[in-house]
Amino acid sequence: MSLVDSFGRVHRDLRISLTDRCSLRCTYCMPAEGIAWIPKPSLLNPEEIERIVRVSADEGVTTVRLTGGEPLISPNLIEVVGRISAIEGPEGPLEVAMTTNGIRLPEFIPGLEEAGLARLNISIDTLDPLRFQQLTRRDRLIDVLAGIEAARRSSLKPLKLNAVVMRGVNEDEVVDLVEFAIEHDAQMRFIEHMPLDLGHTWDRAEMVPREEILASLKRRFVLKPLTARGGAPAELFSIDGGPETVGVIASVTAPFCGGCDRLRLTADGQVRNCLFAREELDLLAALRGGASDEAIRDILRAAVANKRSGHGIDSPDFVQPDRGMNAIGG
Ligand code: SAM
Repeated sequence: MSLVDSFGRVHRDLRISLTDRCSLRCTYCMPAEGIAWIPKPSLLNPEEIERIVRVSADEGVTTVRLTGGEPLISPNLIEVVGRISAIEGPEGPLEVAMTTNGIRLPEFIPGLEEAGLARLNISIDTLDPLRFQQLTRRDRLIDVLAGIEAARRSSLKPLKLNAVVMRGVNEDEVVDLVEFAIEHDAQMRFIEHMPLDLGHTWDRAEMVPREEILASLKRRFVLKPLTARGGAPAELFSIDGGPETVGVIASVTAPFCGGCDRLRLTADGQVRNCLFAREELDLLAALRGGASDEAIRDILRAAVANKRSGHGIDSPDFVQPDRGMNAIGG
């Protein structure tokens, strides 16, 4: 097991973007007209993904999260889940999770369960149909709600719901979102808005910070911090004595890079060691050039070896990555 970086961080979590395409156009993620999509021949195929995951598992990866873009619009989703959930690492079978916007999830759930998916995170930034339409540029709230309801009834547990909190957009909904999550046996998690949009519209002064999210929640709930966060991005709090919990992912104002155990693979086979990395290592070219498992392993190790101590958003020389969140995989 060798995915240990120069700061001693052991990498166990591989996030794989299956596609950069999405059924929504969230204003904080993608321009209205979309982007120049990754050409289809450059997308990793299921065998290639399986091979990279197998080598990663031998190197100590224990969890794989499928994301995008929107993983539910990848034609290979069920096949990929089946192939990678069958992989055994030194510590046992891999755990396969997925982050999705939930659209068309009801029709996919039986296949995902059968293929071996373990759990789901569903993104929902607002419960208001008009706001949803303005924020995502699509009138699909009803479909997202159906997806969440189907997930609630499924075996894919624990269910987590994610919202990016934005000033003047949904900051007044944090309490409603927590109550909605509790009604759906889910954990609500609030994400600080990060500088990852392709439109480069992010403005720190406009961002709703962790402190403000917590202050809004504390006006309605008694929150108690839970310990033992490990490498997880979310800081967890019990609600009114529990057992319900809420999470805050404060990547900007309280970065958790010191415990980061994540490595990312883009849909076109580039390895990234951070959401904010400006360098990628090309596994697609290596695979299609006939690379051995050892060569794949060496590329993964090199990506980890080059990882910086932190994402550097606060550094004066911070430059946003060229790719947006849709292509990096959130
Ligand atoms: N389409 C799927 C979904 O909606 O969850 C998966 C991909 S999406 C890029 C993953 C997560 O990244 C979503 O929860 C989304 O809200 C979040 N995200 C996208 N852009 C972001 C940004 N600039 N700052 C913080 N979170 C962001």
